[in-house]
Amino acid sequence: MKEDLIEVLKAMLTPDQVNTGTEDLYDAAADRYKKYAKARKVLDVPIPVAIVYPKNTEEVAKILSYCNEEKINVIARGGKTATEGGLENWKETTIILDALYLDKILKIDPYNMQATVEAGVALQDLEDELRKIGYTTGHSPQSKPVAKFGGLVATRSIGQFSTLYGGIEDMVVGLECVFPNGHVSRIKNVSRRAGGPDIRHIVIGNEGTLCYITEVTVKIFKYFPENNRFFGYLIKDVETGIKILREVMVNGYRPSVARTYSEEDAAQHFYHFYENKCVLIFMAEGRENIVEATSQGIHEAVEKFKDGIVKEVDSSLIENWFNHLNWSQKDIDDEVEGMLENDYHAGFTTEISSDWETIPKIYNNVIERIRKEFPRAHDLTMLGGHSSHSYINGTNMYFVYNYEIHCAPEDEMRIYHHPLQTIIVEETLKLGGSMCHHHGIGKYRSEWTKDEHGSAYFMLEKLKEAYDPNGIMNFGTIFPQEEGMKYIK
Ligand SMILES: Cc1cc2nc3c(=O)[nH]c(=O)nc-3n(C[C@H](O)[C@H](O)[C@H](O)COP(=O)(O)OP(=O)(O)OC[C@H]3O[C@@H](n4cnc5c(N)ncnc54)[C@H](O)[C@@H]3O)c2cc1C
Repeated sequence: MKEDLIEVLKAMLTPDQVNTGTEDLYDAAADRYKKYAKARKVLDVPIPVAIVYPKNTEEVAKILSYCNEEKINVIARGGKTATEGGLENWKETTIILDALYLDKILKIDPYNMQATVEAGVALQDLEDELRKIGYTTGHSPQSKPVAKFGGLVATRSIGQFSTLYGGIEDMVVGLECVFPNGHVSRIKNVSRRAGGPDIRHIVIGNEGTLCYITEVTVKIFKYFPENNRFFGYLIKDVETGIKILREVMVNGYRPSVARTYSEEDAAQHFYHFYENKCVLIFMAEGRENIVEATSQGIHEAVEKFKDGIVKEVDSSLIENWFNHLNWSQKDIDDEVEGMLENDYHAGFTTEISSDWETIPKIYNNVIERIRKEFPRAHDLTMLGGHSSHSYINGTNMYFVYNYEIHCAPEDEMRIYHHPLQTIIVEETLKLGGSMCHHHGIGKYRSEWTKDEHGSAYFMLEKLKEAYDPNGIMNFGTIFPQEEGMKYIK
């Protein structure tokens, strides 16, 4: 059956668009969630049958309709930077639909302040083109050099300058996508409309479970790097940092960056100046008068909570840190190389969000419960977090935990990551927060999707029934599947 499928795919496209190389298929079986087991070649999931590279929307439609009729699982793939199992394969017969050749920047339109790209264009490539003419996408996740537009939209990604430019959901103007039955939908590019519910949001964040994104139009912004200003402070505790972030936001200021780090997390980012304290940082950007007003707002907020400030730090330290934050493909590959050594030290994150009042409670409850309950607490080498994306009514918390692995590589996620993530998710949901701020649900938070949405899960479930009735789109992602639990616990 697998051989037959490969032959059909080759006949439908051209043979060079169907990859069945052993190493590439092994690589395609999982993403960065099980990166250690993957590096050590002990993955416990089925290997996909083929990686397919469509060259246009018609080819995507042809492949999807065939898979829909034959009930073959399809995993959409972009830059491969997924962290939550969105690219992991849980079905014996699966094909990977890779956006490698959907790589054209179709239009840059500075008059209407938007740019249109195919789904396989890397964010960095569009950003580089825009910078040449004085514009920016405003989108800057740490994976910017590698992540591609289809993936960025499908995961509801967010960048480091989100406080000013917003998340990807604020940037997407229109798009094109293909449903499993081969239907192509184009959502037109308009500045705003009240034509019923906003259907862009059915696609944004669907993680390849409802449709395949082929084209995206995003807003663009004028860029004034010469006006950038950076601010850094050592502060007494996380609560003080959160209060200052809130003060800045509720007074209507929009620094592009507004972050506060726990002492433990500060130690790994700002080891050269943190002095065993928590760290608060800001960046202001835009036109000079806006930067001036934003800087003033930051100073006022800091002044209001001056009892919690230990000292201001040299702004060049913050600027320099920012310039080295992004991950290239080489950084990702080097990390995998490092895992081939005998001792492995893992670092993971879980990002959640809530309102201003609740976020410090969640933070304290999680840290306390992990220290008390996590059976391998003695293997933790770091436990802390930072808030890095703020809104008028709340902020996120990015829990960060590092540990030494003292078990077989294939057991790591069950013994370490899953119990830690469980505590973070449970404590967040208990207080009404969201278990998932920007990495997507993937497969490894899908066991809690119903708890996340409560009575609104009805709406999500109906979308899946309507658009993917045969369940061929990324089995196990977002929508919980009993069959997949063997890969989790
Ligand atoms: C070092 C590093 C730093 C990161 N920093 C950030 C950050 O700052 N902010 C942030 O939000 N995320 C971050 N991430 C997570 C990740 O980069 C984002 O989720 C990114 O949006 C994924 O894009 P991608 O092209 O790599 O998608 P992939 O990893 O290829 O796919 C991700 C998901 O989207 C689906 N998908 C991919 N393409 C399509 C398509 N065309 N149509 C439908 N579904 C599709 C896949 O099936 C999968 O479920 C980081 C990851 C790494 C490794």
